Amino acid sequence: MKCRRCGEVAVIDLPRHNAAFCKPCFLEYFARQVQQAISKFRMFARHHRVMVAVSGGKDSLALWHWLASHGQPTVGLYIDLGIAEYSRVSRERCEAFAQRMGLQLEVVDVRQETGFSTPALAARVRRTTCSVCGLVKRYFTNRTARRLQVAAVATGHNLDDEASTLLGNVLHWQMGYLARQHPVLPAADGLVRRVKPLFTLTERETLAYCLLQGIDFLEEECPHARGATSILYKELLNRLELISPGTKHQFLLGFLRRARPSFSQAEPPPELGACRECGEPSTAEVCAYCRMLSGARRADDAFATKENKGGIT
Ligand code: SF4
Ligand SMILES: [Zn+2]
Ligand SMILES: [Zn+2]
Repeated sequence: MKCRRCGEVAVIDLPRHNAAFCKPCFLEYFARQVQQAISKFRMFARHHRVMVAVSGGKDSLALWHWLASHGQPTVGLYIDLGIAEYSRVSRERCEAFAQRMGLQLEVVDVRQETGFSTPALAARVRRTTCSVCGLVKRYFTNRTARRLQVAAVATGHNLDDEASTLLGNVLHWQMGYLARQHPVLPAADGLVRRVKPLFTLTERETLAYCLLQGIDFLEEECPHARGATSILYKELLNRLELISPGTKHQFLLGFLRRARPSFSQAEPPPELGACRECGEPSTAEVCAYCRMLSGARRADDAFATKENKGGIT
């Protein structure tokens, strides 16, 4: 297999582009995709400081590596969810990466902030760990981004993530989510701008980037990801991609170009105020995070009272 650009031995084939690339040409292709996404969607300027939300996985570390090695001022954010071994190892990977690259990493420990690990919070409020995790991550990401006054928060969402989210949103006609599915969510009333510079690159391509750059990422998925519908949607899209290369790209980019504008006109973003308790943006008087946390504390108190009563009788 030869590189399409220079004729050297190729290290990766990309059927959706009908191409194969050697290492330098692949890295150039990767850089072009990221640069185009940043400039076409006006994600941020060269001098802006960007906060990269990192999980220790290949996508977020590839993104942080690329931005930092292309001169973008960055700071990393790792949220320790308290998910046993997974959180311990993923935190280690992020800290080691930041140290090796000489980059600033902010760590938010959910247990220290709330008194509970994310699974314990979820059990107290009788919700799934993933839904509480999503809420906690959105909350601390925005709060930290505001504190650090960064221009934008960048996440490592790739083409597979975005196409499978789109498939799920279409299958359930989630109008509000469809209106907001975009590589850029602009800043609004206390919400920091959010951007996805890797959204045109596949999981396989970010994996190749990490392997070629020697990035030590965490391969294991979070244990709560097992059986998630998003994984099923990814598998279905992979099967389609195999038969018809380029399907994911056409699906997502076609939606962004042709369909999304009508969804966002029909579903304008909700109005935001400041949470009475914590000051973070919220559609209600008290934000979802503060409501969840007080619910978890009430459940804990009720449990302790029962235990005490049990001890007396
Ligand atoms: S799979 Fe793990 S990291 Fe992902 S949302 Fe669920 S709990 Fe959070
Ligand atoms: Zn080449
Ligand atoms: Zn609040």
